[in-house]
Amino acid sequence: MQTNGSIHTAVRIYRGALELLFALLPSIAILYLHLFAAEAPPFKSFLIHEAAILLSIVISTFVAYITWRCYLVSGEPFLRWLTLGFLGFSLVYLPHGLLTRLADHNMALFLLYGPAARLVLMACLLIALVLRGHSNDSEAQRARSGFWIKGILLFLLIDLLVAALALSPYSTMSWPRILLESAALTLMLTAILSLLIRRSNSPLLRIYLIAVTTFAQSSLAFLILAKAWDHQWWLAHTIFAAGFFLLSYGVVHAYLASGSFISVYSLEEIFTQLRQEKARAEDALSRLKQANLDLRVIATTDALTGLSNRRHFSEQAERLIERALFEHAPLALLMLDLDHFKRINDTFGHPAGDRVLRRFAEILQREVRPGDLCGRFGGEEFLVLLPDANAAESLSVAERLRQSVASEIMDLGEQETRITVSIGIAHLGSSADNLHSLLRRADRRLYAAKEAGRNRVHNRDSLLDHDSLETE
Ligand code: GH3
Ligand code: MG
Ligand code: MG
Repeated sequence: MQTNGSIHTAVRIYRGALELLFALLPSIAILYLHLFAAEAPPFKSFLIHEAAILLSIVISTFVAYITWRCYLVSGEPFLRWLTLGFLGFSLVYLPHGLLTRLADHNMALFLLYGPAARLVLMACLLIALVLRGHSNDSEAQRARSGFWIKGILLFLLIDLLVAALALSPYSTMSWPRILLESAALTLMLTAILSLLIRRSNSPLLRIYLIAVTTFAQSSLAFLILAKAWDHQWWLAHTIFAAGFFLLSYGVVHAYLASGSFISVYSLEEIFTQLRQEKARAEDALSRLKQANLDLRVIATTDALTGLSNRRHFSEQAERLIERALFEHAPLALLMLDLDHFKRINDTFGHPAGDRVLRRFAEILQREVRPGDLCGRFGGEEFLVLLPDANAAESLSVAERLRQSVASEIMDLGEQETRITVSIGIAHLGSSADNLHSLLRRADRRLYAAKEAGRNRVHNRDSLLDHDSLETE
């Protein structure tokens, strides 16, 4: 795909030079005529004028049809306004041809439609340019006929206004024509400037730039040098026609090159668009991944404390228990329940209770090893799973936890409080053990710890409690 860089640059420079030459060629003809052939007698031919105008209108209408069909496919606002421009040009240029034979009776009636048509065309082309790259119209928007009806009515109104102007006392003055032509020229220069600033690489826009530069030179010749029927006047027509043909050439070429039209036209544009699409897809993918991660966090953690929720804790615990059984490794499950927690809520309010729960979760995480598992079982009950911890180790962890909690002064904003925790421990015993049986044992010992006065750890069943005794 990549050619040698310096050759590429040279070719681009040559292309720029050629385009400049094409664009400014009309000036050479205008100057030549101005300097050497100004004295030639005028050439007055109604028929040739009518034929030329007719040809322009047929071409303009044909191109409008092509761009409209392409607009229906792609919905590009650029094409919508291009279509409207060609349509408007046809409708406003038509009287210029139709009224040719009235030239001798009312020159203004005949002449004013020329600059008016150029003005209409340029206004639409400029809007098209501004809207290029904007988001495409939806299918429903494309099917709406209101835009076209309003446009056609506006052009017919312009026809009537021009006729009114030509039939008014102002018709003998030159300012209406100068005004229209200057306005058209201003729009052309604006378009040229914006295209030059943009430095687009799209072939259509480059052809568009040459065409509009050609228009500008014809308008300039009409404005400054030409008088009806003289050779500068015919030349200005020819130059305008050349620009017009060039523009329509750009359009049909774009149509044939891209199959439909045009947001994709040059290879460079295709690659730019591919790159953009790829970046968009990658962006969407990474956002999706992030959303999945977020969802996973939401699904697995307890919103208040950030610990594993009951379901996630259970899944992980079951896996760790299976592994410990398989490896004949020790494992302990701690069930923790805050003592008289209801009083905290009753005394300080529910939000303060939440703060205590969060703080308690922090202490839990601080006191256990990275491989240990902490979870919120529900309410003010928590679980800690200690893989590879034998009876002595798990007891010391539980004691450490209990003491840390008991010694912590809980900050409740305005006030402070202390809290204690009771803990029941179950150890992995027989191969018949599972999470359920461990939970049952730990819960029973927790209950016993509560019964014994709270703020304590129980890791074996009371011998008095024969009914529920299970072996480990
Ligand atoms: P014991 O020492 O017997 O465990 O007494 P207790 O008051 O801690 O136990 P009880 O089960 O009677 O009360 C638990 C309280 O925990 C009741 C409930 O309102 C409160 N609680 C449960 N979940 C939350 C929570 O998410 N936030 C707050 N602030 N309170 C909660
Ligand atoms: Mg409880
Ligand atoms: Mg409690």
